[in-house]
Amino acid sequence: MSLGEPWSTGVTRGDDGALRVAGLDVRTLAAQQGTPAYVLDEADLRRRARHYREAFEQAFAQVGTGVDVYYAGKAFLSVAVARWVHEEGLRVDTSTGGELATALRAGVPGVDLGLHGNNKSDAEIEVALEAGVGRIIVDSLVEIDRVAAAARARGAEPAPVMIRVTTGVHAGGHEYISTAHEDQKFGLSIARGAPGVDGEPGDSPAMTALLAVLARPELRLLGIHSHIGSQILDPSGFTVAARAVLTLRAQLAERTGVLVDEVDLGGGYGIAYLPGEVALDPDRIAKEVASSVEAVAAELGTPLPRFSIEPGRSIAGPAGLTLYAVGTVKPVRLDDGRVRTYVSVDGGMSDNIRPALYGAQYHAVLADRVSTAEPVLARVVGKHCESGDIVVHEVQLPGDVQAGDLLAVAATGAYGRSMASNYNLVPRPPVVAVREGAARVLVRRETVEDLLALDQG
Ligand SMILES: *Cc1c(COP(=O)(O)O)cnc(C)c1O
Repeated sequence: MSLGEPWSTGVTRGDDGALRVAGLDVRTLAAQQGTPAYVLDEADLRRRARHYREAFEQAFAQVGTGVDVYYAGKAFLSVAVARWVHEEGLRVDTSTGGELATALRAGVPGVDLGLHGNNKSDAEIEVALEAGVGRIIVDSLVEIDRVAAAARARGAEPAPVMIRVTTGVHAGGHEYISTAHEDQKFGLSIARGAPGVDGEPGDSPAMTALLAVLARPELRLLGIHSHIGSQILDPSGFTVAARAVLTLRAQLAERTGVLVDEVDLGGGYGIAYLPGEVALDPDRIAKEVASSVEAVAAELGTPLPRFSIEPGRSIAGPAGLTLYAVGTVKPVRLDDGRVRTYVSVDGGMSDNIRPALYGAQYHAVLADRVSTAEPVLARVVGKHCESGDIVVHEVQLPGDVQAGDLLAVAATGAYGRSMASNYNLVPRPPVVAVREGAARVLVRRETVEDLLALDQG
């Protein structure tokens, strides 16, 4: 029987008490692959990708338009994962040359790729144009000139661009992962009278950018993009942002006669990290957003554009877990008299920075056995030289948890490996996919030799 959220659907506990991922015993996994290891449940990841695509396609077809689903590669991208999501009918969003190269290596056609980034290099723009990407999402006024210059130099087709706007909607789990309020680096504001911006007095930076793109023959304006944040559990942020974007689109049409064809509503769909948390349901959110944009378009008297969305975390996150081996176990008496058991594992903030970065919460269980020992208040910590090196802030673990046990941490498939570092010169763990009981290494474990290979002595 599946353990349920926050675990991937393929995670079960066998009669012998050990966890299995897609039928493979974690003890076998640990013996073959070592620890720590990121473990991806391939069928679960594919199912989530398909579910998002089908839910949105269905809901938007109901209101008479289409939708494209882009997997946000920054959540976790490898050649295999790019292939999987593309096979499931998704496109891929990239935001750097590295992500672009990985998707291209996977054989994803350029036309199914998007390039994001608030500070794209000329080389990244060049690679994107060379690959024939379906869209470059422009993030600043200066970038308009840079993309136009690159397109002119190539002398080929006009470059397809979208303008990323900020709608003032602030949504998501943490200030640093909320991206559409005004005081941050992304996008162009739809608010009027922003300082230091050229253009007609009163024009917002967003409107100025849209007009600038229309004035460049080297660019083809596809539409408007908005991404409001991450780990969003309240759907209203999406509908409020969609209204703002559709309104801007109508204003541009009134001004220029050009009604842009596409609107991207970004990603940010929240997932469950802890037992009892409820992820955003793709069917529900798709219906809610579709009926909301239908109403707004009717109000504005404009036909609906084609939409796109960019889920990352909600596809890769729940499909992954991290398998650690337990080392030092240390009880610490707290000021209030309680005892907290510090359970050290063989990884930490180098393979999961999110607790230290955002105060993110995770859930862990003893993975190699069940225990009847009385549960204790535990904190799972890493092996790094920081007291903030915490993997799971607070969790009940069996009181007999001991060195050599395996611990599994749920929902680490997104922003785990992709944000990993070599802090303390710790090699980064492998990413191992499991499907129908068989493991396959997607990204091999880094070795100390790999690290030394970069060191020029
Ligand atoms: C990060 C990001 C996403 C994906 O966000 P998730 O929370 O992983 O769904 C999508 N679009 C843009 C522009 C992003 O920056």
